[in-house]
Amino acid sequence: MKLTDLPGIGPKTEEAFKKAGIEDAAGLLMCFPRDFEVFKEPCTVSEIGYKTFAAVKGVFTDAPFTRTANGKKITVASFKDEFGGSMRVTWFNAPYIQRSISPGKLYVLKGRVSRRYNTVSMGQPKVYSPDEYGSRIGCMLPVYPQIKGVAQGNMIKYISAAIHSEAFDEIAAGDIIPEGIREKYDLMPMARAVRNMHFPKTSEDYARALRRICFEEIFLFIISMRQKGASKKKKSRIIIKSSPETDAFINNLPFELTASQKEVVSQIRSDLSSGFVMNRLLQGDVGSGKTVIALCALMDAAYSGFQGVLMAPTEILAKQHAQTIEDFFKSSKTGIKTALLTGSMSTLEKKAAYEAIEDGRVQIIIGTHALFQEKVHYKNLGLVITDEQHRFGTAQRKALADKGTEPHMLVMSATPIPRTLALILYGGMDVSAISQVPKNRLPVKNAVVDESYRPNAYRFIEKEVRKGRQAYIICPLIEYSEGLEANNVTDYTEMLRDIFPEDISVGMLHGRMDPAQKDNVMERFAQGKIQILVSTTVVEVGVDVPNATVMMVEDANRFGLAQLHQLRGRVGRGKEQSYCIFVSNSSSKQAKERLEVLNYSNDGFEIAKKDLELRGPGEFSGSRQSGAFSFKYFDISRDTNIALTALEAAQDLAAGSVRITEDERQRLDERINKAGDNIIL
Ligand code: ADP
Ligand code: MG
Repeated sequence: MKLTDLPGIGPKTEEAFKKAGIEDAAGLLMCFPRDFEVFKEPCTVSEIGYKTFAAVKGVFTDAPFTRTANGKKITVASFKDEFGGSMRVTWFNAPYIQRSISPGKLYVLKGRVSRRYNTVSMGQPKVYSPDEYGSRIGCMLPVYPQIKGVAQGNMIKYISAAIHSEAFDEIAAGDIIPEGIREKYDLMPMARAVRNMHFPKTSEDYARALRRICFEEIFLFIISMRQKGASKKKKSRIIIKSSPETDAFINNLPFELTASQKEVVSQIRSDLSSGFVMNRLLQGDVGSGKTVIALCALMDAAYSGFQGVLMAPTEILAKQHAQTIEDFFKSSKTGIKTALLTGSMSTLEKKAAYEAIEDGRVQIIIGTHALFQEKVHYKNLGLVITDEQHRFGTAQRKALADKGTEPHMLVMSATPIPRTLALILYGGMDVSAISQVPKNRLPVKNAVVDESYRPNAYRFIEKEVRKGRQAYIICPLIEYSEGLEANNVTDYTEMLRDIFPEDISVGMLHGRMDPAQKDNVMERFAQGKIQILVSTTVVEVGVDVPNATVMMVEDANRFGLAQLHQLRGRVGRGKEQSYCIFVSNSSSKQAKERLEVLNYSNDGFEIAKKDLELRGPGEFSGSRQSGAFSFKYFDISRDTNIALTALEAAQDLAAGSVRITEDERQRLDERINKAGDNIIL
């Protein structure tokens, strides 16, 4: 069904949707909200305290007025609650708001709040009549991903129209999960799931709908993997021997490898010399020391005359790895040369790297996916290691095979998943695990708090900074986003610059900054020139600044426990005691209980397990982790239990132990064939 067949959608809107990859009414139905706006009882100005979002009931004391500053129109007003508490209200580029407001009349304003000295301000609030606001309390209003040229309010209308159209009936008729499986595993029909993804009555409804959607995705994946058959071991001409130089290097390390690390090193060594292509997944909790293991394998490769690469998911991490390896090599004469290759390097720098790689002057090459661009020609590539769940894509693997190289592969990940699942997701890889973390660390001290604790947290951070330490503050969003009540890095940084004395430097980091800027910030943080770093989860993976002792996570309830555990791994890397403050603005008891797990456990595997048991509704796809797999909804670290269920269901189907009609079988097969190679990792 065409988009323009839906009431209200004309050619222009259709065009806007198409630009965003939404082709038809069915596609529109699959465009799910990124969050839901909730409406709590309004509070008074004095109750705002250090909240960052609030709704306040009161009156405008005078008519708002608009002035122009720096080319922007700023509309300002003063607003008073029933107890006389007042706040300043501002809107940017919305002078028309003036006309719709009558001073003295009761309104509810909802928006981002901040305080400077004793003045409370609310920016860009939405204005409601008390009745209008009251009728929304307890409702969940969908907030859609922003699509250029389509307003949020209209999006809701279009989706409602689509739900009442033929396109929706087709979804109902085309359910690809057989009823027998739906019944056995308590999965709702697809049509109901789609409706509840958009307009759930309760957050439980949403959670159940999301479960069904994720189930379908991973179920299809598992079935098609089974049909393709597990990959067999391939013969390899790349024989990498354990080298005595690497042994000497290990013996000269400033620490002794843990028993677990030693075991993994020997597993890898036996793979590398076996005459078969290594295809191994190495799982190990944050801080368990995976890097040094990777380095040993790369050194063995170099001493056997092969090049090896270490690929990281971000530039920051790639640079850090390069630095770490340089530092290790400084104290021991290895004779091995390394090179860095990332997308943000200048053309000249890249050219130099290409040449050094091509003529074999360098043996260990560290970088981002730039490592596998067409222009890079390896002299004798023997080993590819990818760090932090950055799976080496099937496409890249094929490209290499086409060039006649099939190097050994090692994937390192800190996301613990059960072995049965790892075997499927990673397509028949062997799995190693580091089960212990080096003992010499002070455990991180944790606190789970609510918003009222913010002033204490800031005082504490200031104290740590005065002692010469540094802090991370994590926010879920990059910038203010309409309807999303979650802290954003941009406003938060500005707020902190106000709160902290001028000699404390507050920096900002997020994924949309350009690479050079990011590097610059990270470098200054590593050098201690920035003391407080406000960041999104881009620091989640692998970054190592041992002098940072505080990690404060805003809106912690929006993250998965496994992800929070990863974030926590950024502190506690030095000699000093470290602290982690998880701030939750959720009033739900369950959210609090879930976060408490972080208080009593420091074990990644245990935390992941608890996360599965306790993960309740209310966590939306918005805070989805970026992971190694290109699933659309399914999240490997969040939805492990769903995957295990899907695995069981796939086994049922194969064993014929659930009922499936001829029609259902055909629909399922058709879908898998149609998806073809699109169901990939
Ligand atoms: P991750 O597994 O999270 O990637 P890293 O490889 O970054 O962990 O290791 C964390 C820190 O622990 C590094 O500074 C590393 O040098 C150090 N380390 C690694 N192995 C040991 C060990 N056996 N004993 C003490 N410190 C170690
Ligand atoms: Mg690491």
